[in-house]
Amino acid sequence: MTYSERKDERAKLLIVDDNKQNIELLMELFRDDYKITAAVNARRALKIALSEAPPDIILTDILMPEMDGYELCRKLKGDSKTKNIPLLFVTAISEEMDESRGFALGAVDYITKPFNPLMVKARVKLHLELKRKQELLEKYAFIDALTEIPNRRRFDEVIDQEWNRAHRAGYSISLMMIDIDHFKLYNDTYGHGMGDDCLRRVAGTIAEVLRRSSDFVARYGGEEFVVILPDSDLSKALDTAKKIQDKIDALDIAHQSSLAADHVTFSIGVATMIPEDGKHPRELIEAADTKLYEAKSSGRHCIRS
Ligand SMILES: [Mg+2]
Repeated sequence: MTYSERKDERAKLLIVDDNKQNIELLMELFRDDYKITAAVNARRALKIALSEAPPDIILTDILMPEMDGYELCRKLKGDSKTKNIPLLFVTAISEEMDESRGFALGAVDYITKPFNPLMVKARVKLHLELKRKQELLEKYAFIDALTEIPNRRRFDEVIDQEWNRAHRAGYSISLMMIDIDHFKLYNDTYGHGMGDDCLRRVAGTIAEVLRRSSDFVARYGGEEFVVILPDSDLSKALDTAKKIQDKIDALDIAHQSSLAADHVTFSIGVATMIPEDGKHPRELIEAADTKLYEAKSSGRHCIRS
C-alpha cells in the first residue's frame, strides 16, 4: 500500500547512521510524529527498504564504513521498488560534503548538523507531503475520470505484466472485449448526461462480477471495455462473460432506440492464449477484437469466442 493510501497510519521514517548517538538524537526529535526504524549501516538499511514494510522516507548519514550514504542512495534510486522513497542526507557541517553529488544521485535534501529541530521537522514533513501528492498524481494518471476504473494506459501495462506472468508460469490467459450495443443511439436518445451515467453503471457492474483480485477491467475507449482474466481457460472466460451479460441484462437500463433489445446490452468477444516465445499480447487483443466484431455482425447482444 502506498503512503497516500494509508491515511490513518503514521508515516514510517528510516534513520541510517553508524553512530548510535546520532540515531538517538533524531529518534528523540521524530518519536511523536512518526513510526521510526533505525539502521546502523547501509546494508541493513537496504534490507529494510526492500522489505514488505518499506519506509516512507529515509534520513541517512553520509560517512559510514563499508557502504557510505552516497552508495546507499545510488542503490535505492536504482531499484524500482525503492526509487520513490525520498532520501535526505543528514551530515555534520564539518564533514567533507558534496551537495551536488547527492542531488545528482536523487537525494531530495540535505540537513546539516548542528540543526534546528523545527527546520528539520518541517523539511521531513514537506517531503512526505510531496511524496503523497506525487503518488496521487500517478494514481489518477491511470484511472478513467468518468467511470473511475483503470484506463487504457493502465491496461497497456497490466496486459504486458499478466502476459509475462502467464508465460513464465505456463498458464493460459483470456481477454474479453466488451462493447455497449448501439451506444451512439443511446446518447442521441437520452443525452450525454444519461450516457455518462450509463457508462458508470456498466463499468461498475463489470467490476462487480470480477471477483478474483487478479481479474482486471479497464475502459478501453468510448463505450468499449476490456477484461483480463489471468490463468483462465476459454470455458472459464466464457462463464465470466455470460455472468457479465446476465448482470447487464438484469440491470434493465432502458434503451428504446437499440436494435438489439429494449435495454442496454453488450456484444462480447472472448479469446484465450497460452503465451509462448515469439508471441505478443497484441495477438490476444486482436483475437478478442475479431470475436467482438463477429458478435456485433451477428446481431449484437451476444458472446463470440
Ligand atoms: Mg557516520
